[in-house]
Amino acid sequence: MAKEEIDDLLPDKDAAKGFYAKYEPKEILGKGISSTVRRCIEKETGIEYAAKIIDLSSDSHDGADGKTMLEATLEEIHILRMVSGHPYIIELHDVFESSTFIFLVFELCKNGELFDYLTSVVALSEKKTRYIMRQLFEALQYVHGKNIVHRDLKPENILLDDNFNIKLTDFGFARVVKPGEKLFDLCGTPGYLAPEVLKCNMFETAEGYSYDVDIWACGVIMFTLLVGCPPFWHRKQMVMLRKIMEGDFSFTSPEWADITEPPKDLIRKLLVVDPNERISIKEALNHPFFQIMFWDQDNSVKGGTSRRFSRICQITLEHKEQKFDARKMFKFGILCVRAIVRIQRLRFTPEPLSMEVARVDPYRIKVLRKVIDACAFRVYGHWVKKGEGQNRAALFENMPKVELKQIYVNNLSR
Ligand code: ADP
Ligand code: MG
Repeated sequence: MAKEEIDDLLPDKDAAKGFYAKYEPKEILGKGISSTVRRCIEKETGIEYAAKIIDLSSDSHDGADGKTMLEATLEEIHILRMVSGHPYIIELHDVFESSTFIFLVFELCKNGELFDYLTSVVALSEKKTRYIMRQLFEALQYVHGKNIVHRDLKPENILLDDNFNIKLTDFGFARVVKPGEKLFDLCGTPGYLAPEVLKCNMFETAEGYSYDVDIWACGVIMFTLLVGCPPFWHRKQMVMLRKIMEGDFSFTSPEWADITEPPKDLIRKLLVVDPNERISIKEALNHPFFQIMFWDQDNSVKGGTSRRFSRICQITLEHKEQKFDARKMFKFGILCVRAIVRIQRLRFTPEPLSMEVARVDPYRIKVLRKVIDACAFRVYGHWVKKGEGQNRAALFENMPKVELKQIYVNNLSR
């Protein structure tokens, strides 16, 4: 974009002389309700940053607590400074204030949002999910340790740096809570809202909510990363909210068939309706899902097979008091190793399917399912709207709509 064009689009140039003297603004990286984020270059050093430009003029902050935009932004800056210095949390580099705009200069995350990364790959492997979720829990542990609730955790607010490590961002809804304090305002993004937040909006007697709402959102994120679609979804938002209130989700879609038990178990413990029964961050980080010790990149066991083989030989020798036959033992050993390797790879072996099943239900075949989902995302990926996230689920709807099916059946019977 030409410099003049950029200048035209930029706000109130005189009011933020400090910012423009120090930084050269470039293209837009992302947009929120009342903010625009642009890449910019620090003139003196040539280092790239991301500048979040917040428009104070409308002052119609629709966020929580009934604060003005200015108050909300000052709170965001205060919290960003409190959480600075953690490897998985965005670093605030500079701040410029004017009467109409505030400029927040952040470290730049070149790989953008986790949201866009997920859309480009449809779903993440268990290994990548483990990598991201561990970092998210560690970042959150740090945030909660500073008595801060984030309240808007979602893949749009998780950025990826050059090394694909996460940077938690957007503390626009975050709040510092006093010991024992409960919050009551409805804020966040519908699909990620915890049941106790919804209850505050429905019942006068609601007890309020606190840190646990972020743990619930982690469950929604983890579910979405593993299979590409969110746990609670319905075309009608009211039905979706009811599903959240009831904790009504399942692992029944075909994608879950290829996923092991530990991540499912952790999700079940994160998406618990009663916040008092919900797993804590510390317990989550100690969950078996994060305790994989021997597994390398291809999920093959490092050094484990030979150890197991020698143990099998030992047992065989102990229990059968036979004369030692090296050749026989060697053959037996090979068979054992083969059997172990086969058992380990069992989950990667496609289930045998008849041509008939493959014809009527191709989606059951993992390889075909991956191709179908990848094509759907390539063609319709742009439908997956930021901030809503829920219509990502629509791309996984592979059953005919009931009304259409009825019309089809009626036409046939005529
Ligand atoms: P909002 O409160 O308006 O949602 P965010 O802080 O979430 O503002 O920023 C909006 C979007 O801008 C992000 O979702 C992301 O796409 C982009 N963005 C924000 N900060 C950065 C950054 N440091 N590096 C790269 N992109 C960023
Ligand atoms: Mg955001």
